[in-house]
Amino acid sequence: MVGKQGKVGCINDKILKQMSLKKRYNFLNINLMNVLRPENFNFLKETQKFYIKFEKEHNITHTEDFYQWIPEIGKQGLVSRVNNFAEIGVNYPEYGMTAEFMRILATDFFDPQLTMGMGATVLAINPLLLHHQNVDIRLKVMKELVVGEKIGCICITEPERGSDAVHMLTTCEQQADGSFLINGQKIFQTNGSKADWAVVYAVSEKNNGNTMGQFLVDTSWDGWHSERVNIPWTPRIYIGKETFTDLHVPKEYVLGNPGQGKEHLFEGLNLERLGIVFLNLAEAWNALSHAVIYLNLREQFDEPVLKYQGVGFPLTNLWAKTMNLTLAALHISQIVDREMGEHKGTLPKQLNLALGVNASQLKSQSAKLSERVCYECANLMGGAGACDNTLMEDLLGISRIQEMGGGTRQIQQYIMSFSLRKIFKML
Ligand SMILES: Cc1cc2nc3c(=O)[nH]c(=O)nc-3n(C[C@H](O)[C@H](O)[C@H](O)COP(=O)(O)OP(=O)(O)OC[C@H]3O[C@@H](n4cnc5c(N)ncnc54)[C@H](O)[C@@H]3O)c2cc1C
Repeated sequence: MVGKQGKVGCINDKILKQMSLKKRYNFLNINLMNVLRPENFNFLKETQKFYIKFEKEHNITHTEDFYQWIPEIGKQGLVSRVNNFAEIGVNYPEYGMTAEFMRILATDFFDPQLTMGMGATVLAINPLLLHHQNVDIRLKVMKELVVGEKIGCICITEPERGSDAVHMLTTCEQQADGSFLINGQKIFQTNGSKADWAVVYAVSEKNNGNTMGQFLVDTSWDGWHSERVNIPWTPRIYIGKETFTDLHVPKEYVLGNPGQGKEHLFEGLNLERLGIVFLNLAEAWNALSHAVIYLNLREQFDEPVLKYQGVGFPLTNLWAKTMNLTLAALHISQIVDREMGEHKGTLPKQLNLALGVNASQLKSQSAKLSERVCYECANLMGGAGACDNTLMEDLLGISRIQEMGGGTRQIQQYIMSFSLRKIFKML
């Protein structure tokens, strides 16, 4: 049998077999078959088929270094579906935010830490998509990332500037030939110490966000130094702390000159937050799939424990909340896809502004939900939820960091309360 087994068997083999990837996908599909459009449902099932085969063929136990799998996953076209990537000759038939949601759901059921790691590569692809300006090297890098040959990361957060990302201390100094020298430090970059390519933000004047630039960096260049930060809740993801010492960035790698960087940073945040929403929902569905199967099979006092109201009823609450937020996320994704389709791949300014608040609303609620659902599912499963025999172990860890990344809970609340003031003034 493939899948996570744990060092010592705690769950009996008969039940463990029923919690296979295929069975858990079946649980998800039964829930979503009536709310998805046929093309999205088919893409979800195709992606699931790939991962079932992949898990079997490679005898995967989910304790491996998942970065080694990415080239094969990339070949299958499953690193990002945010776009069709026609400019690099890829041309995926299924693409857009709804397709991306499906990709993330299927990938997360296979391996949650892999899904988050690949998500950071997606964040490095998005700025290239928007600012490649047909420059050869940028298109080449975008292709390497999209097809999974290379790993990406984005460098915004600094040791002294976390939530206050606009007032950066990392500097970029323009040279006579239009190239830049970058100096400073970044921290908590997902994939940082594994990445081949990084998108780095820096300012020409410290603490002045209006002088921010955006740079594509080859991590093998002199002046890039990365150390791995230990985040015990996601032990298989490489998170980095980077030091830049006179890091020289040639002109063709400058995605945004000082003055353009802040806009570039904010334009990507809506899609980044929606991506985190999909990740959160995928984690919640993944935990539910484990718990629902286990609790139907586990017997105590001669009855399946799901039949006890103390177990079954709280489970229904988690299920209902997860389904409700899934419907909301699907609705927003479909609006984004429709508008992008009508406006040649960009969003009307007014919609993008409103979407910022929707993304904060969904991100904050889904992060909280993910943490609660993963914890409660593990809790309802008793010892089986706490041991290392299933992916519940990974889900418990990863769901605890989702309120922090992509702007903390308080920053989402700040955005929303600012918006409430703005709406009030419009009355
Ligand atoms: C696992 C992980 C992966 C990450 N990946 C990346 C990545 O790929 N790239 C990247 O650049 N960064 C990444 N980050 C960094 C992440 O975006 C930051 O951790 C986050 O922005 C918060 O910054 P901080 O940790 O410095 O906390 P701080 O900003 O120091 O915040 C500390 C506390 O103060 C609160 N706070 C701060 N300001 C306010 C305010 N104005 N009002 C109310 N409360 C406030 C915060 O909400 C928090 O509770 C990652 C972080 C983690 C944990």
